[in-house]
Amino acid sequence: MSGSDGRLNANIVHRSDGSLSCAHCGEALAGGPKDYLTRLPKYEAPMSDVGPHVFPDPRVFVDVDAVFRQYICPGCATAFHTEVVPVGDAYVSTISV
Ligand SMILES: [Zn+2]
Repeated sequence: MSGSDGRLNANIVHRSDGSLSCAHCGEALAGGPKDYLTRLPKYEAPMSDVGPHVFPDPRVFVDVDAVFRQYICPGCATAFHTEVVPVGDAYVSTISV
């Protein structure tokens, strides 16, 4: 990492040339700070598979089926972002740069 490289967050290195990479394994990531999450591999599972700490049936609270989704590093599988969203919903960025 050069002296002018920085961190986008704890998991992502933002290089001085504008490129992004994983802070854990160095894998180059596609896209930029505003869209890299949408270009990552995704892991999705039903809420019942997440674990005992998460209520398994979102229909008790909302009128849609929900899915647990993680956006992961293509190099080392570190989960960069985790969300619970309605089934089929696209990612909605909460990142501001
Ligand atoms: Zn990685």
